[in-house]
Amino acid sequence: MSKGTKIPGYMQGKGRNPRGIIGDREIRYKCSLQNTILDVLRGRPGWQEVPGQNNVQQNVQANTKQQGAIPQSSKSGQQSTGQPPSNTGKAGSGTTTTQGTTFGNKASDGDWDFYWCDREWLHQNYDTMFLYEHQKILHFRNHYELTRKNLMVKNLKRLKKQTEREQGKAEGLSFEFFPTTYELPSEYHIFVEEFKKNPGIIWIMKPAARAQGRGIFLFRRLKDITDWKKGEYQPLSDPNRDAPETYVVQRYIENPYLIGGRKFDVRVYVLVVSYNPLKVWLYRSGFARFSNTRFSLDSIEDTYVHLTNVAIQKNAPDYDPDKGCKWSTQQLRKYLSAKHGVDAVRKAYKGIDNIIIKSLQSVQKIIINDKHCFEMYGYDILFDSDLKPWLIEINASPSLTASGKEDYELKFGLLNDLLNVLDLENRLTGKEKRIGGWDLLWEDGPILADDGNMECVPNGNTTTIPNSFLGCHNDRKRQLRELYMAAQSVKKT
Ligand code: ADP
Repeated sequence: MSKGTKIPGYMQGKGRNPRGIIGDREIRYKCSLQNTILDVLRGRPGWQEVPGQNNVQQNVQANTKQQGAIPQSSKSGQQSTGQPPSNTGKAGSGTTTTQGTTFGNKASDGDWDFYWCDREWLHQNYDTMFLYEHQKILHFRNHYELTRKNLMVKNLKRLKKQTEREQGKAEGLSFEFFPTTYELPSEYHIFVEEFKKNPGIIWIMKPAARAQGRGIFLFRRLKDITDWKKGEYQPLSDPNRDAPETYVVQRYIENPYLIGGRKFDVRVYVLVVSYNPLKVWLYRSGFARFSNTRFSLDSIEDTYVHLTNVAIQKNAPDYDPDKGCKWSTQQLRKYLSAKHGVDAVRKAYKGIDNIIIKSLQSVQKIIINDKHCFEMYGYDILFDSDLKPWLIEINASPSLTASGKEDYELKFGLLNDLLNVLDLENRLTGKEKRIGGWDLLWEDGPILADDGNMECVPNGNTTTIPNSFLGCHNDRKRQLRELYMAAQSVKKT
């Protein structure tokens, strides 16, 4: 490297850093969102915002063009090498170094290590950008395989069939956690057959790619969806109109678990840092979202009764913004344990672990695995009156906007701990089973707990307890202090 050449940030500390991420320098981040995640990033010691948020597009184009970068999609296999592309000589107006980074122009000024991008940005840019060893970015390229309602069910049905074929019908029963679902309009005729077999039950119609309860309605009679069908099917015979929007029609869970007469679902946070091997973390804290109005099957058109989305509930006439309609997962687990006993609750929560792992496995071979990518999913789980958990949907962009002080604290801790798991600072050993509020649930196989959490596992034999503590005490700050001290002494030796 010639004298006077600036050493790019990501190369500093190289050689001193056994895990090869970033050495002793600040970490440069970009963030597309203006909510809790931005507060977390801004408050994180040693992290620096890359100036000019709107520069990201330019930066990627510059990286791609000037460094002769290989588009991700054209690489052999699905895993990017993470190595800078080989140099082809001078690029742009800058000087290309042996590390493949261009200096003396705007491109290197805009380098980033961490990008909390939105999904649209990723879709537009991923296929044409090159990611360096040190870069981490939110979302896997085709996350929608799991987060679009129709695709999620398609993938689950496929893995269920495969499991039945290879391991027998009994094993297939472990997939009985998503309500019977059909895609419309493509599976309309199969749905009608199923509908006729079960007269009188309630179905729920949901647009496959929308969120926050938009476009959802319940129905009992086939006639009730005739209008919808007419409106939506029209385009098929009219070439000038757009194709009809894809919906899913799903069996409505008519016997939800009720607390105080009201229905709720549970938001569970799951972090995937790799699909191959599958490595999954489960966050202890989350919340239950209650509907504002007592549950009844008499008024199936009343969304305040049947849809638990906060976006819907906050418009209810008697909604109290101070009280909100949330319980922490700790409150919920305590309540359920007091009512049904710890073992029954443990069994129910084991069902949630099963939902998480099976759903991720259903897309494991399809998701474009890239070691630069990670995903934080928001699972929506609904308990029925038998305390059986059902998968309602999986979000790739769970809301990070806080609805109150407690919600802010939850999300602030959640996101900080997510950054602790990613460990761009390289402070940990990489062998941790718990980091703050995140517990390692799966790493190419189930993870067992080292020590039981007394609140959730009072008499448990800790050698057979899964490392899963949803709704258990989240003493994240104390745990992190001890963890970092322990990691430091391991690293010194
Ligand atoms: P969105 O992405 O629009 O939030 P969801 O699939 O999460 O759509 O559904 C919104 C809400 O509707 C859920 O939070 C839940 O309260 C209710 N819901 C959805 N599907 C069902 C179902 N099959 N049975 C009972 N309630 C459901």
